[in-house]
Amino acid sequence: MFPVPVEKVLQLLEESGFQAFVVGGAVRDILLGRAPREYDVATDARPEELLRLAQRFRLKAYPKGAAFGVISFLVDGMEIEVATFRAEVYGADAHRPEKVDFLSRLEEDLARRDFTVNAMAFDRQGQLHDPFGGREDLSRGILRAVGDPDERFREDALRPFRACRFAAEYGFQVEEGTCAAIVRARDRVAGLSVERIREELERILLSPHPARGFALLRETGLLSTRCRARTAGKEETVPVLPELARLYGVPQNPRYHAYDVWEHTMRVVELIPPDTALRWAALLHDIAKGMPGVRTLNKRGELADYRHEQVGSLMAKEILGRLRVSTTCARRVVWLIRHHMTFPPAKEANVVKWLRRLSPDFKDREELAGAVTQLLTLREADLRGGKVRPEERLAENERLRVLVADILMRVPLYPADLALSGRVVARYLGEGPQVKRVLDDLLQRVQEGSLPNEAEALEKALTGTESYKRFLVHKENGRARRRV
Ligand code: ATP
Ligand code: MG
Repeated sequence: MFPVPVEKVLQLLEESGFQAFVVGGAVRDILLGRAPREYDVATDARPEELLRLAQRFRLKAYPKGAAFGVISFLVDGMEIEVATFRAEVYGADAHRPEKVDFLSRLEEDLARRDFTVNAMAFDRQGQLHDPFGGREDLSRGILRAVGDPDERFREDALRPFRACRFAAEYGFQVEEGTCAAIVRARDRVAGLSVERIREELERILLSPHPARGFALLRETGLLSTRCRARTAGKEETVPVLPELARLYGVPQNPRYHAYDVWEHTMRVVELIPPDTALRWAALLHDIAKGMPGVRTLNKRGELADYRHEQVGSLMAKEILGRLRVSTTCARRVVWLIRHHMTFPPAKEANVVKWLRRLSPDFKDREELAGAVTQLLTLREADLRGGKVRPEERLAENERLRVLVADILMRVPLYPADLALSGRVVARYLGEGPQVKRVLDDLLQRVQEGSLPNEAEALEKALTGTESYKRFLVHKENGRARRRV
């Protein structure tokens, strides 16, 4: 029924006279026929007893960081969290309980959990314990709070975000009363840290049904809440994502677009592969559409969004910064949005020029290749996600993909692509900034076609440069001085 390490922990606990159950997400996933992400065990053994047992049975175990009295067991390389049955008492904090009381009955422990589908347990024999009808809800695809939803969401303001995330990950429908209670608990979000919310947002982004998650976030008003952030040691509140909510109902020129900006955005997010940077880029690529200064009328008097990719990339930079998205990821997302509107025709000369113009944004060819590939993937999803008659441009995008891959293999774009290394140049010129200058100069000549990318030709060209002549003179002077 369970993996061997989990069996071992259950057996060890039972044989020592304790109760032991697999609980939470693993039960839900097993019932759905999915592989659990991890296994959590609940028991009536106290944390000290758990540590003693681990020692007696020579198992690695240690208290789990921030959680109250949760002991992590490391068995055959698998980490299993074992937690004592508990009730949580909530106080002023918007997420963390003020106090934890250890209990002796499984049912009481299940009662403190967030949703019925998460409040089930399996014993070692595979018998299901399901006091809140989680199995029924699971089979009907319904996410329902355990007990009084208002109370549950007021206790812990992360639960509303978890609700949206579970809906996105499993395609659940959030039960009506549960959904209504989320709306009423919105003011509690102000006490949640932005990092916690960002984590849930990214899990929604990467889930199989992100549009469902974001629809819920918008409908319940969660996108338009504010949360807690620390900036340079100072506490402040920051908006969650009102810019996204604003896109709802923003119309577009029907000549080119089949949907409003929100609907289009959701389609693009669902179409693009589940990579963090790509999904953020899809979510925010049209974030500036409809903004004052961006929204205008074209020559025909139809809706248009002038330079929305530029304004949008600046908005994305601000949003991702305040949500504390990793800087590497944020930088890539901003770049993708900035460049998502202008593509060259799939012709050698145009593409070479385009890649050369983009190349200084990246440290080497590999990074450039990764970014450009992502850009073409974003464009494909953008076209498929609601452009009118996209076929021609989709075909062009595919031609561009092939050409880009080919050009990246044979056209030098970085000094490192030259058939002459910096070390050889330094042998001629000495170490110093002149090495890079000369390499850049040689690269430009190779790119212009006035010099072949061959070691011999490059070395010959090098000895013809001003830098080389200056270096010879300099060396000569040095020798002359020493002779004096
Ligand atoms: P995942 O697949 O994301 O791990 P999960 O359901 O296992 O989903 P965890 O965050 O690992 O989620 O938590 C394990 C279990 O602990 C949940 O199934 C739920 O029963 C309970 N739980 C976790 N977080 C909360 C919370 N904020 N409020 C109430 N119960 C929670
Ligand atoms: Mg889990």
